[in-house]
Amino acid sequence: SYPISESKSSSTMAPVDVQQYDYIVLGGGSGGSGSARRAAGWYGAKTLIVESGRSGGTCVNVGCVPKKMTWNFATIQETIDIGKHYGYEIPEGIKVDYNKFKKTRDAVIKRLNGAYERNWSKEGIDLIHGRAHFTEPKVIEVAQEDGSVARYTAPHILIATGGRPNLPKVPGAEHGITSDGFFEMEDLPPKIAVVGAGYIAVELAGVMNAVNVETHMFIRGEHFLRKFDPMVQKTMTDRYEAAGVHMHRHHAGFKEIQLVRDGKGKDRLIKLINHDGSELEVNELLWAVGRAPEVEDLSLEIPGVKLSPSGYIVVDEYQNTSAEGVYALGDVTGQAELTPVAIAAGRQLGSRLFGPPELKSSKISYENIPTVVFSHPEVGSVGLTEPEARQRYGDDKIKVYHTKFTAMFYDVGLSPEEKAKNPTEMKIVCAGPQEKVVGLHILGLGVGEMLQGFGVAVKMGATKQDFDSCVAIHPTSAEELVTMR
Ligand code: FAD
Ligand code: NDP
Repeated sequence: SYPISESKSSSTMAPVDVQQYDYIVLGGGSGGSGSARRAAGWYGAKTLIVESGRSGGTCVNVGCVPKKMTWNFATIQETIDIGKHYGYEIPEGIKVDYNKFKKTRDAVIKRLNGAYERNWSKEGIDLIHGRAHFTEPKVIEVAQEDGSVARYTAPHILIATGGRPNLPKVPGAEHGITSDGFFEMEDLPPKIAVVGAGYIAVELAGVMNAVNVETHMFIRGEHFLRKFDPMVQKTMTDRYEAAGVHMHRHHAGFKEIQLVRDGKGKDRLIKLINHDGSELEVNELLWAVGRAPEVEDLSLEIPGVKLSPSGYIVVDEYQNTSAEGVYALGDVTGQAELTPVAIAAGRQLGSRLFGPPELKSSKISYENIPTVVFSHPEVGSVGLTEPEARQRYGDDKIKVYHTKFTAMFYDVGLSPEEKAKNPTEMKIVCAGPQEKVVGLHILGLGVGEMLQGFGVAVKMGATKQDFDSCVAIHPTSAEELVTMR
């Protein structure tokens, strides 16, 4: 380490030693961890992770992991619900202890926090807890819990600080929670309002409805999941309504939110006031209206890292920012905000910076990234939506295969209304005379697991003929994907 001049931000303090690393990673979430482990574990770079919160970041603590566990929790209720059609005598009013489940979920997360830190330690990565900001173009300062500051420098600095949930500008918005608060809930509220129409709104409204919480969804348009294929938007929004979600479509936003009674679970009461004066009282209000990049207190003007008009860090295809030796990836860049994307981008960057010469142009491909919404039922999608494909290739070059059916699991004498709650639907979008598969959209039981393998095929450039040449697995829902006419 070596002494360095006093920084702007701590001019009243004595000079602090600056420790030298090969690689400094700001944020120990999916992308930061992936990149640090590649750099240190594979290529021996002296690496530091700076993490201001819990190790593992959004995915582990307030994202994929608690969300998927909660989805599993809700899926058990759905299986119980269908059980009676199979002849199971299921007593009314089975008790569910959400608080017990929450404690189990918290314990899993705590174990994962430890696993992340042990892996970093095994690979020789140093970890410092605290919030980082730049004090010089290649120097960062970390305010630690005991009030002291530490400074570090490296020729390569990665910003992988992720994002945080937005609150809308509505008077009283602070009485609601975001997805972060959702995972702190100790008990189920009897009645919840969910505002938003993206992944998080659809996933969390879905689990609440499945476990018999009276669920109200407020969306701005006619359908939710607006960025997905129109088939997904329509079938899923209608399905949620059929399954009992109170859909408030074309909602113009609230005039005001009032806290009627502070408390938890059923003891909490929140009043939602519409612009026309109508009101709805709920026990919890969940804002799921998008996320913002975590950049404000990084002092990015010091290295000269440029932001886009919407506040995300601008990067090129190699994750370079506008400042030499400073990189960014994951949610803070707003590119396909998914954990495996952040991990893959992080690993590629680690290989590019510290790997052998043949990896000097490593980068992630952002084309054909498969994604699953853990809704009820799940939705899987890879490639272009039908409108995107028509726009890119022209109507006459596009052929669409489509099927909608009831999966065998639900073919147990359900009424048409009950069947509407359990749709399976698939669409293959093909382009050109070879019928290359450029989009695949599936919804139904098990599609989350189904999509990964088809994702490989689409990534490899499969045609409809390739799909058809694969012998079906019977009886499955997936077999429809290789037999569609
Ligand atoms: P993060 O994982 O957010 O990590 C950033 C880290 O940086 C955080 O730990 C933060 O504490 C730290 N940090 C921030 N500022 C500083 C600072 N100044 N100094 C030091 N540290 C700092 N993706 C999926 O693929 N599948 C899913 O099922 C899925 N479900 C999700 C459900 C929810 C409710 C949410 C919110 C997200 C979900 N995601 C899912 C998205 C996924 O969690 C993110 O895309 C992923 O975590 C992004 O990784 P990241 O490394 O960019 O950021
Ligand atoms: P999304 O970008 O998916 O959705 C944000 C939603 O907020 C949009 O539907 C938008 O509605 C709505 N919205 C914005 N402003 C308002 C407003 N003022 N009032 C009402 N609605 C509003 O963001 P999420 O926060 O749901 O998720 C963030 C990202 O995290 C996702 O994009 C995804 O990449 C990732 N994620 C991935 C998951 C997975 O892989 N399964 C699960 C959860 C998150 P409109 O459509 O009307 O514009």
